[in-house]
Amino acid sequence: MTTAFQGIGISTSRSLALGPAFVDGRGGRAASQSSIAVDEVAAEIERLDLAVTAARQALKAVRNQIPRHTPLNIAEFIDTHLLMLEDAALVEEVRRIVAEELCNAEWALQRQRDTLVGIFDEMDDPYLRTRRDDVEHVVQQIQTFLQGAVEQSEPSAQDLAGRVVVARDLTPADAILLHHRGAVAFVTEFGGPMSHTAILARSLGVPAVMGIHNITRYLRQGELILVDGETGTVLADADPLTLTFFRDRLRAAEARQLRLRGLVGRACVTRDRVAIDLLANLELPEDVELATANGAGGVGLYRTEFLYMNRRDLPDEEEHLANYAEIVAGLGGIPVTIRTLDLGVEKRIDTASEPAPGVSNPALGLRAIRLCLKEPDLFRPQLRAILRAGAIGPVRLMLPLVSSVHEVDTVLALIRQIKAQLDRDGLQYDPNLPIGAMIEVPAAALCARALARRLDFLSIGTNDLIQYTLAIDRLDDGVNYLFDPTHPAILRLVRMTIEAARDLKRPVSMCGEMAGDPRFTRLLLGIGLREFSMQPGAILDVKEVVLQADTRDLERRTAALFARLDDTDPGALIDELNAA
Ligand code: PEP
Ligand code: MG
Repeated sequence: MTTAFQGIGISTSRSLALGPAFVDGRGGRAASQSSIAVDEVAAEIERLDLAVTAARQALKAVRNQIPRHTPLNIAEFIDTHLLMLEDAALVEEVRRIVAEELCNAEWALQRQRDTLVGIFDEMDDPYLRTRRDDVEHVVQQIQTFLQGAVEQSEPSAQDLAGRVVVARDLTPADAILLHHRGAVAFVTEFGGPMSHTAILARSLGVPAVMGIHNITRYLRQGELILVDGETGTVLADADPLTLTFFRDRLRAAEARQLRLRGLVGRACVTRDRVAIDLLANLELPEDVELATANGAGGVGLYRTEFLYMNRRDLPDEEEHLANYAEIVAGLGGIPVTIRTLDLGVEKRIDTASEPAPGVSNPALGLRAIRLCLKEPDLFRPQLRAILRAGAIGPVRLMLPLVSSVHEVDTVLALIRQIKAQLDRDGLQYDPNLPIGAMIEVPAAALCARALARRLDFLSIGTNDLIQYTLAIDRLDDGVNYLFDPTHPAILRLVRMTIEAARDLKRPVSMCGEMAGDPRFTRLLLGIGLREFSMQPGAILDVKEVVLQADTRDLERRTAALFARLDDTDPGALIDELNAA
């Protein structure tokens, strides 16, 4: 009988996979406590140190095996783990527990793991919360050696070709090696959509489902597993009917991918000859390849946060510039929209190691443009670098979380100062670099006209616009069901923004997730959107809809849809719009 498990889907351009399970039970044994005598402390600490050294060597060996041309700078993830192995907060504290509490190293390590994980779990910032995974991975590595599992060999290439890897957890290093050894999907007990392993899976195009607790206990080695990375469903012991149905879906998905690839070179125009720009959202320079391979017309959102993460210092102007120059070069002449820093003070962007005290609601706190304006020394190097990157190729600058015209006026004044400074420094920059703002708080949408008057373009960030308009924490599972792009309030704010930009003849795009969902393409075209920016893997899906659309017809029908918005389920209205 088919057994279904539900987890968190990490959807990629390919989200379905099927194959025999490779159940990796490593690292799953819980440590048990035993007492040691005072004269055994030195030997116990030496045992711990040997395990740490072995873990370090193992990580270095993996680092050396990373295939060249790996699409992410995975070595940095491994370096993070190597640094953690050196970190006093981890190993030194474990030594102290062994010595003071006279317990075995496994138990002391487990205790320190619980403390650190507890601290990470308390953090408001979702990205930092996922850093708990790094602690888990490093502890697991040391435990493996402490518990004498050294001899357990790594799965070989033969073991893995065509298999679905089912593991308690996977480090980014595991993910990359498993992929290169032919694994077709990952299923894990832990991890979430913002973890490095999830980011990697997406980038490698490996379907993955995370967060199915205890799944390694339920699945048998070699049994056939069906993975749906879009819905987060994993099926085992599938009955013949389910299996046939899944295989048909897999075949259809493959055929569809092949068909969509044929659209890459085609001009993106509607049936009534209206040109539509389909742009890519990028998080890392490595994503450039994916963007161009899918025929992106440019980059509508480059999130620069990665430049600030996993480090103790701040990137300087030259590092910013080198990063942007790499992107500009990779894009070969198509424009890139660089978003300035969108982190908060609670996200530890500087060397201070503790979250700011008293930040009870970081989403409403000192973040993004607010933080940058409060700390111009943080902002200036990035602004200078973006302006300078404009001398290398087509670059636009975009401000996140704008909520008033005053903020825009202040940034524009700062940019004027910086340009004068660049002139004095004799450095090249683009004096006409387009400057725009994201519309992601209701206040910005309501003031879109005044913002557009001051700026060169607008871009609607629906992820935050929905969060702030509907008062839903976009990361809180408990209220996720309320996160609704079709809520009449959202549709009205989107329309208001597009109309304001159009009246003032300013380009307007959308770079929130809504733009990459083909269910909303016709609706957005009907509202008047002509520029969509999305994760590269979605471009061809949206393009397929655009090529079949007629904007005049959609505009007429969307106007009628708005008239019925308060009395009819918006989802049903959108289905109607998509049906014909
Ligand atoms: C958004 O809010 O829609 C957006 C694109 O920005 P981010 O998802 O990075 O907050
Ligand atoms: Mg946002």
